[in-house]
Amino acid sequence: MKILVQKFGGTSVSTEERRERAAAKVLGAVSENYAVVAVVSAMGRAGDPYATDTLIKLATDINKEITARELDLLMSCGEVISGAVLAATLQNHGLRATLLTGGQAGIITTAEHGEARILRVNPKEILRELKAGRVVVVTGFQGVSEDGAVTTLGRGGSDTSAAALGVALNAEAVDIYTDVEGVMTADPRIVQDARILDVVTYNDVAHLAHEGAKVIHPRAVEIAMRQNMPLRVKSTFSDAPGTLVTNDQPNRAVGADMFEDRLITGIAHMPQVTQITIDISGDRDKPRIVRQIFKSMALAGISVDFISTQLDAVRYTVKDELASKAAEVLQNMNITPKLLSGCAIISLVGGGITDAPGVMADIAEVLAERDIEILQSADSHTTIWVLVKGTHLTEAARMLHGKFINPQ
Ligand code: ADP
Ligand code: MG
Repeated sequence: MKILVQKFGGTSVSTEERRERAAAKVLGAVSENYAVVAVVSAMGRAGDPYATDTLIKLATDINKEITARELDLLMSCGEVISGAVLAATLQNHGLRATLLTGGQAGIITTAEHGEARILRVNPKEILRELKAGRVVVVTGFQGVSEDGAVTTLGRGGSDTSAAALGVALNAEAVDIYTDVEGVMTADPRIVQDARILDVVTYNDVAHLAHEGAKVIHPRAVEIAMRQNMPLRVKSTFSDAPGTLVTNDQPNRAVGADMFEDRLITGIAHMPQVTQITIDISGDRDKPRIVRQIFKSMALAGISVDFISTQLDAVRYTVKDELASKAAEVLQNMNITPKLLSGCAIISLVGGGITDAPGVMADIAEVLAERDIEILQSADSHTTIWVLVKGTHLTEAARMLHGKFINPQ
């Protein structure tokens, strides 16, 4: 039995017409003799009647402190609704389709409500249905804890469900169907001339996803990578081939670098971050104060990024929404931080950055041309990060894309 997992995101199931397009993808795979598992997200985006954010709002409007376990049960309804409606659509086309919840599909998770991690998948029930010749629709984004509570996997979690099912079922591939034609060199909402990447390594796409390219969830990529499971990102609304995520190099000589001509694969961005600057020039015991700052952030559960400690100052970033909490923690330690909110982290990602000299110099030059100030920068062997003011995000991303990805 050759199995294909197809995942349909929120915009791919939001209207009747779109669900017909999704159904056509399932029908296409069935006609190629695939046993199909279709993983669905909740319908639409915030404001749409059955979207995840709409469901959350129903409860949090009356009680912001609703318990995470109950919120998970509420959120899980979104995928149940879209799954049932997609099953009905498939049945209209003469397919025998059955709907399984995450728990029924055998997705066992930790009990961390709202951010559960998949512990294992027992695909017995899915296999039984597939063997009986049925298309199995599975609600994405959810699982069940060992003690039977419904859990959710966090934003973008349906991608993770699809990847985990693909691996557990030893599928031929996992296809992520969405509203763009593949993984692109930048978010097309910001950089209009972003290009589709035909092939990309797990590492590059995982880094892009981590740095904010929300076209696929980084955990989904990590799960697929461990088993070398081919992932394809495609559009529900076209027949374009999409992006293949793989480490294999089908058309190249053994040993050749698949992406030898590619210095930077793509650019991702993370808006709404606050830069915190703490002047330590007058402190005698600098190591102690640095240690105290980060220990206090950790104790308060505030995750920090972009840490740079120098003799005169400590700088780091937090999400905008956590900035006032971070400031309060610092003030309690008699520290007066300087806050710059609404910043954005731009990340240039690519395996080709390793050992390439002068990239940072080029970045600085391109941004200086437009008077875009680099508030902070950092680099690893696959990523270069720059922090800019939010008002500079779009222009900076376009300039960097123009310089490194689409040079004239
Ligand atoms: P779905 O509901 O199908 O999961 P998402 O909204 O989660 O869809 O992801 C698709 C969106 O990701 C696109 O509409 C696009 O704006 C955004 N995106 C951000 N970065 C990229 C990128 N590098 N390539 C493609 N899309 C990207
Ligand atoms: Mg998504």
